[in-house]
Amino acid sequence: MTDKAFLTHLRNVLAGIEAEGLTKRERQITSAQAAYVTVGGRRLLNLCANNYLGLADDPRLITAARAAMDSHGYGMASVRFICGTQELHRALEARIAAYLGMEDSILFAACFDANGGLFEPLLTDQDAIISDSLNHASIIDGVRLCKARRYRFANNDMGDLEVQLLTAIKDGARFILIATDGVFSMDGSFANLPAIAALAEKYGALTMVDDCHATGFIGPQGRGTPALAGVKVDILTGTLGKALGGALGGYIAGPQPVIDLLRQRARPYLFSNALPPAVVGAALAAFDIVEGADDLRAKLEHNAAYWRDGLQSLGFRLLPGEHPIVPVMLGEAPMAQALAKALEARGVMVSAFFYPVVPHGGARIRTQMSAALTTDDLDFALEAFASAAKEVRAIR
Ligand SMILES: *Cc1c(COP(=O)(O)O)cnc(C)c1O
Repeated sequence: MTDKAFLTHLRNVLAGIEAEGLTKRERQITSAQAAYVTVGGRRLLNLCANNYLGLADDPRLITAARAAMDSHGYGMASVRFICGTQELHRALEARIAAYLGMEDSILFAACFDANGGLFEPLLTDQDAIISDSLNHASIIDGVRLCKARRYRFANNDMGDLEVQLLTAIKDGARFILIATDGVFSMDGSFANLPAIAALAEKYGALTMVDDCHATGFIGPQGRGTPALAGVKVDILTGTLGKALGGALGGYIAGPQPVIDLLRQRARPYLFSNALPPAVVGAALAAFDIVEGADDLRAKLEHNAAYWRDGLQSLGFRLLPGEHPIVPVMLGEAPMAQALAKALEARGVMVSAFFYPVVPHGGARIRTQMSAALTTDDLDFALEAFASAAKEVRAIR
């Protein structure tokens, strides 16, 4: 029996979300994820996938996935430690560690799970975690699940980070871990890793970087934000669900004892199914492709610069930066939604982000560049932005 009052309560909450203009609606794509997708029979230019290198429909990955499925089957029907580890899983963990210059790595069903399971086994109530205020939801949840004392510093504010470090030391912390996104996903801004590494060194703290929006395309050979900054961090987490083919899967890379203890204790690892062979086999191929993909990284960087320049000359307000995440700032949710709708009518698919994903007043269309986009595609999209913005009065 379902309690009527409970369902009425839920309907009221949903009505409130709708009344505020904050309802998220999902488009149904009937094609593969690519530069162009089909929605409702229409071909739309896609500016909102995390498909940074354009590998989501790459024939080499599809072939590798098929081959792994032929040789290793469809599903694992087990967690890793019972009977869910194939040699492919260990090969991928070694491949990830080698690529990132770490001792070892451990796979999870998603980076959400990697971040969710990372902190609790490593730190206790004698320890401290100092977290950037703009960190991804999965880090926030992971920190909540850990008994360590929590400190937060204002986004990328190194003065505040130092204050929090001093507070944690004064509070008697045994070990201190600084946790940050390498790239902040709503803004496309980079963490100040050189300064964070220097403060960690100064106060004897450990560092953890979530590089989901960097691995594969930022830094030399796409090795991520620490490689770009030329610093070493203690623990890196990342996803197979963005630049590295975009399927799913997450990982933690770090020193051997960290990985070994996580294999014994991380709850999303112990109590959730192993990744399927197709995903693991294709991910192995993805790392080979990505390591040698300087051409795709150059194309992506060119596209990001061209796209920023184009939008800026049209009069759009952007958050400054260089990352292929290019947020177009629009104030409140209805304006962002109206512009997204007008763009879709013109054949351009974008996604509006608003509260609670970003602060009130910070509604935006987060555009994302991909190496799969051509200059012609971007020119087409710029024309669409100009005319759509005029229609909904998004710019003067
Ligand atoms: C996408 C993302 C995640 C989650 O990754 P999944 O593998 O999709 O679960 C975690 N952290 C950051 C910063 C992300 O952008």
